[in-house]
Amino acid sequence: MNVRRIVERPSPNFDDRPDATPIDMLVLHYTGMTSTEAALDRLCDPAAKVSAHYLVDGDGAVYGLVPESKRAWHAGLACWRGHRGINGRSIGIELANPGHEFGYRDFTAPQMASLADLAFAVLSRHPIPPRNVLGHSDIAPDRKLDPGERFDWRGMADRGIGLWPSATAAEGDALSLLAECGYDTATRQVVAAFQRRYRPQRIDGRLDQETRSLLGGVAAAVRRTA
Ligand SMILES: [Zn+2]
Repeated sequence: MNVRRIVERPSPNFDDRPDATPIDMLVLHYTGMTSTEAALDRLCDPAAKVSAHYLVDGDGAVYGLVPESKRAWHAGLACWRGHRGINGRSIGIELANPGHEFGYRDFTAPQMASLADLAFAVLSRHPIPPRNVLGHSDIAPDRKLDPGERFDWRGMADRGIGLWPSATAAEGDALSLLAECGYDTATRQVVAAFQRRYRPQRIDGRLDQETRSLLGGVAAAVRRTA
């Protein structure tokens, strides 16, 4: 798997990772800005205090902002599988896209291909299980929508990145299934975050029959790959 050349665009916005913490999560974002240049400027602006390890542009170009060995600042207040210090244990990748605020659009084919290559390389370097390949909306469902319902999680899973339910399953208790998937709570926003990822056709935060079945399927996939 070839990762195309990475364009170095060093950001000052990082610090040391905590000791003895594995890098076991990959978090995907969109930039939510009108242009890639504006996003790169912000991710490199000391006053903004935000960053990511990489940014993948719409044309497939990959920018390297923060070394993987360092802690980038991309997750904010977040929780997954009971862990709250997400930046300390994750790699963060930004995808150029104006996002819901400025004209959300499809991710491009070159962008997705570059992301897949990059994610593959990241997964080869760190013990990140499929259940910990995440969207920002998974770990901060009350604040974040990215990378959003246009992101092809199923296609990524087909390439071996992250998980997708192979079948729906008889539903159990929705609250415990959501927890088993990794979500911190079971609010309407959490159900919406789950739907945004696994049933992007209808995101209403309701635990309907299909959502419950998908929930069972994802939890089963999590168990299988644990
Ligand atoms: Zn984000």
